[in-house]
Amino acid sequence: MKNIGIIGGGQLGKMIAISAKEMGNNTIVLDPNPDSPAFGVSDEKIISEFDDLNACDILIEKSDIITYEFENIKLDSVEYLEKYRKVFPSSKVLSISQNRILEKEFLKNNKIPVAEFNLVKSEKDIIKFCENFNFPVVIKTATEGYDGKGQKIIKNVNEIPSSYREISKKNKEIIIEKFINFDKEVSVICSRDTSGEITSFPISENIHVNHILDKSIVPARISKTLENKINNLAEIIVNQLELVGLICIEMFVLGEEVFINEIAPRPHNSGHYTLDACDTSQFDQVVKILLGFNTCKPKLLSPAVMFNLLGDIWFDNLNPNWNKALMTPGSKLYLYGKHEPRIGRKMGHINILNNSLDDAIKLSESCKSMLYD
Ligand code: AMP
Repeated sequence: MKNIGIIGGGQLGKMIAISAKEMGNNTIVLDPNPDSPAFGVSDEKIISEFDDLNACDILIEKSDIITYEFENIKLDSVEYLEKYRKVFPSSKVLSISQNRILEKEFLKNNKIPVAEFNLVKSEKDIIKFCENFNFPVVIKTATEGYDGKGQKIIKNVNEIPSSYREISKKNKEIIIEKFINFDKEVSVICSRDTSGEITSFPISENIHVNHILDKSIVPARISKTLENKINNLAEIIVNQLELVGLICIEMFVLGEEVFINEIAPRPHNSGHYTLDACDTSQFDQVVKILLGFNTCKPKLLSPAVMFNLLGDIWFDNLNPNWNKALMTPGSKLYLYGKHEPRIGRKMGHINILNNSLDDAIKLSESCKSMLYD
């Protein structure tokens, strides 16, 4: 079996490493934080900044193949790694997904529906965009934004100067988008293996609170027509990217219309339900692709709800009542092993499985409230 290098030691890196290990491989994780969750399960650790070329050399030496768990890595480092080892997804896919402007242009050029957008170089660009498309709009940093960081909704002309000042302080490149008054947010995890076979996981319906994923409901409560449309769009995207690996495509649903918001070339929080509700998890799928195995379509074994455990819980209640919460039928707890709970920090999640989706939703609500008991 293989030595799999993983850049990033967070929960996604940890779960990739667990799947890799289950399939008999060795893992080498690179992360600057000595307390990284993935270090607890990897065979080897490299404690170093992601852009340190000496660390990259060690990773090259120790790995047969390399992947990453997040997209905010310096592109130069991945291009360097690619000279010596296969990196999946490729630096080409990474370069598109790590810059919202390139990402939106790529999607638009491939006739994939996205919210109207434009580049912002000055306040005037915002005013002009709003004259054409009206309020509300969202301005976002082109790079390094996640979980709602680096973005601001602008509801009227008075909010333009302060919002522009705030966002332009963070990043030089800014994008403006029309705010979509969506009915639902959904995502699909789609993979393409080395033989070009494309498979998609069931579509997940995602509820965000304060821009952070709160819960995923699967299967998403959308029409069959919409489901087919989303799967077709996903296929076009992965083909056009010439992806080898796995991506998550996040989108807004408005009536029977869909607008792609973001693509992430890695396993995703909204795919954690696959750990228990599918015959193959998103982490198994990525590992299979890294190993050069063929993939088949993952099957949903049960309706499921996944809800995140943010650090906030520990501030509200120092000792969450795990015992009571886990008496919920069909529940499974995942804690990532992060030592310090912080507001908004993803510390873990709970998956709830039930034959009835409505019951799974109700049980997820009661399970969460038990934590505060
Ligand atoms: P993002 O950082 O682009 O993933 O955005 C985080 C969250 O902000 C999304 O999941 C939405 O809830 C919200 N959001 C971002 N962009 C838009 C938009 N153009 N229209 C409506 N909501 C948005």
